[in-house]
Amino acid sequence: MSHVPALARFVDEHPRLFVLTGAGVSTASGIPDYRDANGDWKRKSPILLQEFINDDFMRRRYWARSLIGWRHLSKAQPNAAHDALAELEAQGRIELLVTQNVDGLHQAAGSNNVVDLHGRIDTIRCLSCDSTMPRKAMQDAVEQLNPEFARLDARSAPDGDADLDDIDFSRFDVPGCRSCNGMLKPDVVFFGERVPDVRVEQAMAAVDTADAMLIVGSSLMVWSGFRFAKAAAAAGKPIAAINMGRTRADDLLQLKLERSCTEVLPLLTTSRNLPA
Ligand SMILES: [Zn+2]
Repeated sequence: MSHVPALARFVDEHPRLFVLTGAGVSTASGIPDYRDANGDWKRKSPILLQEFINDDFMRRRYWARSLIGWRHLSKAQPNAAHDALAELEAQGRIELLVTQNVDGLHQAAGSNNVVDLHGRIDTIRCLSCDSTMPRKAMQDAVEQLNPEFARLDARSAPDGDADLDDIDFSRFDVPGCRSCNGMLKPDVVFFGERVPDVRVEQAMAAVDTADAMLIVGSSLMVWSGFRFAKAAAAAGKPIAAINMGRTRADDLLQLKLERSCTEVLPLLTTSRNLPA
C-alpha cells in the first residue's frame, strides 16, 4: 500500500490529471454506496432500464421509493473530497473530472470541468419528446398525486431510491410528461442502458491529453468507468487510486491508497510544486 507523500509526488509530477470519481466520494455526504469493499452488491441490485420501461409495477415502485429517497438525497452537501477536487481544478491540475456519481456534488463544490458520465438525478427527461424538467417539479407532482405515499419514510439508497417493503405499489400514480404525456425517467443512466457516446468521447479525449489518471472512491466494477482505466493503461499513462477496498483496475495501478478520500485529497491541494 502506498502513502500520501507518494501520491502527492504523483500529483506534482503529472500536472494534468484525468480524474475519475465514484460513490466513495459521496459517502461522507450521506449518500450510501451500493457496493462493499469487495465490490459486491450490499443491497438488491438496482432497477434495470428494461424493467423501468416495460414493467408498470416496477416503474410505480421505483417512483414510490424515489419519492421518499429524494428528500434525503436533495439535502446532501459537498464534503472535503469534493472541495479538494474543486481546489485542484482551480489550481489548474485537472484536465477533466469524470464522475460516475449522479448527485451533482462536484459542481456544488465548485468544479466546472465535469462530465456526469451517468447523468444527473436532479433532472427528469421525457422518453418521448426529450424535454427535461427539474427533479423538484417531479417531486411536487408525485406528492400531489400520492398523498398517502408522501407520508411514508424509509432508508434511502444511492440513486434516491429507498427501501419500502410490504407496500402496495399498484396504487401509486406516476405522472406523465406535461407536454406530451410521455414516460418520464430520471436523467441518469440505468443499469442496462448505454452511456451517451458524446460523454465517452469527451472523457476519452481527456485521457489522451492528460498526463496521468487518478481514480477516487470507485471500485470500477462497471465497464462504463473501467474502460477509462483500460484506455489510460493502454496509452501508457500512470494510474493512481484512492479507494477503500479492491478495484477492478488494481493490476493497472502504479500506486494505491486504501484510505478515505476525504482525508487524503485535502492533503494534495497543498503540495508545493504547483504547475507553472
Ligand atoms: Zn414529453
